[in-house]
Amino acid sequence: MSKLGVGKEIVTNCSKCKLELAHIIVAMRDEVTPYKVQCKTCKSTHAFKIKKAATATRKKSTTRKPRVSAEQKIMNLWDEAKSKQTEDAAPYSIRTKFEIGQFIDHPKFGEGVVDKHIDNNKIEVVFQKDIRVLIHNK
Ligand SMILES: [Zn+2]
Repeated sequence: MSKLGVGKEIVTNCSKCKLELAHIIVAMRDEVTPYKVQCKTCKSTHAFKIKKAATATRKKSTTRKPRVSAEQKIMNLWDEAKSKQTEDAAPYSIRTKFEIGQFIDHPKFGEGVVDKHIDNNKIEVVFQKDIRVLIHNK
């Protein structure tokens, strides 16, 4: 590596061009540190900036997307179903046959409404925050 000195070329960040560019050293701070450099591209002379350790300055995004999420949709479904509820929820059992629109009371997931028959033994149930497939009619 050639020694640095006045008149030598060095690649450094140009404060005007905002780019890493070749500069000519016009003054030295000490034997190894340029003091002033002239950009070969824009010809401006500026202080040589000693590179700082690259630090991640990227800010963490604190803005959240407004969430009209799957969860919200399920809650809407639930609210709608709930508003049409006519009977008390029936305790869930895999042996019981449930009909569409029927409310069930699941020991783990709580109250839900039967949304679909998937097949003879499976129903899709909308719970307050979740849609689950349950076995029935066994
Ligand atoms: Zn420049």
